[in-house]
Amino acid sequence: MDPDSLPASYADAEPRPFWLDQADAPEPGAPLEEEVEADLLVVGGGLTGLWAALLAREEEPDREVVLLEGERIAFGASGRNGGFVDASLTHGIENGVARWPDEMPALERLGRENFAAIKETMARHRIDARFEETGELAFAMAPHQAASIPEIVEAAQTYGWPAEALSAEEAQSEVHSPTYHGAASLPEGRGVVDPARLAWGLADVSRATGVRIFERSPVTRLARAGAGLLAATPGGGVRARRAVLATSAFPPLVRAIRRYVVPVYDYALVTEPLDPERRASIGWAGRQGLTDLGNQFHYYRLTRDDRILWGGYDAVYNFANGMGPRHDERPASFELLAGHFFETFPQLEGLRFTHRWGGAIDTCSRFSVLFGTALGGRAVYAVGYTGLGVAASRFGAQVALDLLDGRDTERTRLRMVRTKPVPFPPEPLRWAGITLTRRALAKADSRGGRRGPWLRLLDRLGMGFDS
Ligand SMILES: Cc1cc2nc3c(=O)[nH]c(=O)nc-3n(C[C@H](O)[C@H](O)[C@H](O)COP(=O)(O)OP(=O)(O)OC[C@H]3O[C@@H](n4cnc5c(N)ncnc54)[C@H](O)[C@@H]3O)c2cc1C
Repeated sequence: MDPDSLPASYADAEPRPFWLDQADAPEPGAPLEEEVEADLLVVGGGLTGLWAALLAREEEPDREVVLLEGERIAFGASGRNGGFVDASLTHGIENGVARWPDEMPALERLGRENFAAIKETMARHRIDARFEETGELAFAMAPHQAASIPEIVEAAQTYGWPAEALSAEEAQSEVHSPTYHGAASLPEGRGVVDPARLAWGLADVSRATGVRIFERSPVTRLARAGAGLLAATPGGGVRARRAVLATSAFPPLVRAIRRYVVPVYDYALVTEPLDPERRASIGWAGRQGLTDLGNQFHYYRLTRDDRILWGGYDAVYNFANGMGPRHDERPASFELLAGHFFETFPQLEGLRFTHRWGGAIDTCSRFSVLFGTALGGRAVYAVGYTGLGVAASRFGAQVALDLLDGRDTERTRLRMVRTKPVPFPPEPLRWAGITLTRRALAKADSRGGRRGPWLRLLDRLGMGFDS
């Protein structure tokens, strides 16, 4: 496709997340306009906060739970993501094995149980989040990536997952793109969901079980008050015994989070629905979630009405944790994404994108959720999922509740739960280090996967950068 015509393909796209732009999206709920009391305050109306609120009520139906969301339910990552549901709690098996090899059998089992519990919750409460248990295909886009497929397959099989290596021909016959050099087929423990519908469904069920949810109610201050806490919002306040902080990449209410988590912007496009002829031209009968195996990778999947959501590749860190609506649009990333899309599917030339957006990922240097207590043990945070938190958010919420209640469980004994990632340095080193790392990762992709001295040093320090 002529590169000059790429911007036209997304020029008329709605500048908002496809998931939040659906005709039956609920209006944001009422803000908090009084002082209320609660046993448990949850800050953040994404999947982590919603699971925490619901599980807290289910565990103890008498517990008074209030959830405060600064904007609207699923405003953050939970309404902007690819909707890949993955049983892994460790941002993939490879990352887990590198960090917690002894714990991996337990972490994988807990991940399986978590995945099953999410499905069970959706079924029990009739949440129609358009979940499809499709499995996943991870494509090699270069020969060196194809060489890594047997290792990926073996690692999955080691932990009891079915997995298969596909040749270039087999990969291309599954999904018709001339760019594939092979694939790893991972048919179980993975699927796709409409993440906003999952969040709305969890919010409805939480309300039905007695959780009080206030939207458009940003917590501007959180402080100790006697044996508990006081959270202030522009219109009111909550006095609570304990709090779960599920604020992801947003400016944190407790300082510790800032050391461990940086907001990294990831961008996505959604196409118009494919007509039957175009739909047939790409194969993809299994409707799997698709990714590729580079350091800089795309993720793509079909929606219920046969659009393609196409995202990833760029992972943009803005100086001093820069966040906010002005970063939701990034023409350079949209152009790159559109270019890669038509390289992957040249037969779809002329297709238009109807939505474009960006979202902040709560990246930490070990790529999986981290926990900590603050304000004298009155508050617990669960943040840092690094782009794989749609399913892991339920586990994160459970651990946060365990920690708040001082429960000694298999989960709280995990080293993954008890330890923290290597912190990011303060600015300007933070920006310089991340920029250097992004460049080194891109270079490794273009040089047959060879990791240069900077990446090898980070590997030794247990630090990384991913989305
Ligand atoms: C572009 C993108 C693609 C992704 N793709 C995938 C994927 O395909 N699969 C996957 O598993 N994961 C993916 N992720 C990650 C996944 O979306 C999250 O890990 C998951 O949804 C859990 O989010 P959360 O609830 O922790 O945070 P969020 O959904 O970001 O929720 C945090 C909420 O806290 C609110 N908040 C913040 N501060 C305050 C305050 N002071 N007062 C009140 N409210 C506040 C925010 O408004 C926000 O709604 C992706 C993320 C992004 C951004």
